[in-house]
Amino acid sequence: MIRIITDTPEYFSDLGDVLRLFYGDIQISLTDGETVFEHHFTDRDGHWIDRWMSDDRESVLDQPAFTGTPVEVKRLRKRQVKLALYNLLKELTGTRPPWGSLTGIRPTRLLYEAIEAGMSLEDAVQNVQTAYDVSPDRAALLGEIAKMQAGIREAPANQFDLYIGIPFCKTRCSYCSFSAGEIGDGKRVAPYVDALLREIAMCRALMDEAGYTLRAGYVGGGTPTAIPCADLERILIAAQTAFPTAVEWTVEAGRPDTIDEEKLRMLRDRGIGRISVNPQTFNDETLKRIGRAHTGAETLEAYALARKLGFDDINMDLIAALPGETVADFRHTLDVVEGLRPESVTVHSLAIKRSSKLHEQLTVAGGHTQTNAEGAAEMITTARSRLMGQGYRPYYLYRQKYMAGNLENVGYALPGKACLYNIGNMEETVSVLALGAGAISKWLFDRTLRIERAPNVRNIDEYIARVDEMVARKRSVILCGEVGR
Ligand code: SF4
Repeated sequence: MIRIITDTPEYFSDLGDVLRLFYGDIQISLTDGETVFEHHFTDRDGHWIDRWMSDDRESVLDQPAFTGTPVEVKRLRKRQVKLALYNLLKELTGTRPPWGSLTGIRPTRLLYEAIEAGMSLEDAVQNVQTAYDVSPDRAALLGEIAKMQAGIREAPANQFDLYIGIPFCKTRCSYCSFSAGEIGDGKRVAPYVDALLREIAMCRALMDEAGYTLRAGYVGGGTPTAIPCADLERILIAAQTAFPTAVEWTVEAGRPDTIDEEKLRMLRDRGIGRISVNPQTFNDETLKRIGRAHTGAETLEAYALARKLGFDDINMDLIAALPGETVADFRHTLDVVEGLRPESVTVHSLAIKRSSKLHEQLTVAGGHTQTNAEGAAEMITTARSRLMGQGYRPYYLYRQKYMAGNLENVGYALPGKACLYNIGNMEETVSVLALGAGAISKWLFDRTLRIERAPNVRNIDEYIARVDEMVARKRSVILCGEVGR
């Protein structure tokens, strides 16, 4: 356990995030711990001075104090105290994380802040690189993403994106931390769909009243195609009738073992332009190990069927550093994906969340599963150079806590095939109306300066019982600008 002694305990959780960049998922306390990091802050003669000490090493960061609104000052103070600790850790450990001192999930935000302050794209990339010690290739990646997002990052203020969550899966993947449950005997599907249809109808009235129209719709989960075709169709008909203006519809047909001709025909006939067919890996041993009840061959069959039925915008999700996978295994997956040439490929770095079975397997004594965090960086770099060599471009990026190697998740797409929903959601440039158990609506105010959230309850039975209350939460946020719960 690590103990932090600090003059600014209000940043304790952010400082913990910096320590985890170097030491992984460790426990951190303000009162206990064998290893101690001590911090003193002085505000003197117009300078902020942060001094960090540990193990006879010391690091001092002395910068002119920032003046501005209280919110801006707090943000800048937080950045400086984190950077000062980061400098000490870099010296102590002799390592440099690829994203430098950045711990947030959206590094592109800093790039856009610099651009909005008047910098050119090139200068903004350089600024992120030097101010946060971001590696040159990661800073360049941000620049590439900004180019792909040009002209499609924002939407008119009276448009929203729609997310519909179907929280059922055939079996549970060992790395999964979502609130999705196994579908089991399927008895909860029908009441869930009824509740969802009620939420759609009530939200249609809400959007009419608020004066918003739909830009892009996204049905995710869980695995939407895990439920019977007729149920999924009822949901799509209700959503498309309620919100007829979408220019893009995506349905995650994620698990190949849930895809069949009937469902694909239905999706096509309902005008769903974009689907995901997710291999994660084409190594069958790994698929078994991570609890995915399908093989690589089934992924190929599902993909071929989708192509045969005319789908021309297919995404494939891959995960680097799955348990037991080598760089050679990952290269094999890339070989197969390159041969298929889907319109977009999303490359994830494995994140082992505490609520996943995998976390339990890795932490319980005798756990048999090993991840390849060291190889993760090579896998991610290989995926980037190979996909970009094939004409794909990175168009959105996010980071998560507990990711192998402190890396990133990146969506790549062929020209003209970037998913609007993914960009708006990740960049928080478009309001999202989110329906279903565990879905979190995010509403933008004051030209995106303020975001309020309205979360739905995660438990499926609770959601079914309290769907009217979920809409009331959205109503108070969207119509009255109230702070969500
Ligand atoms: S398919 Fe996705 S949501 Fe379902 S169990 Fe696997 S990771 Fe979780």
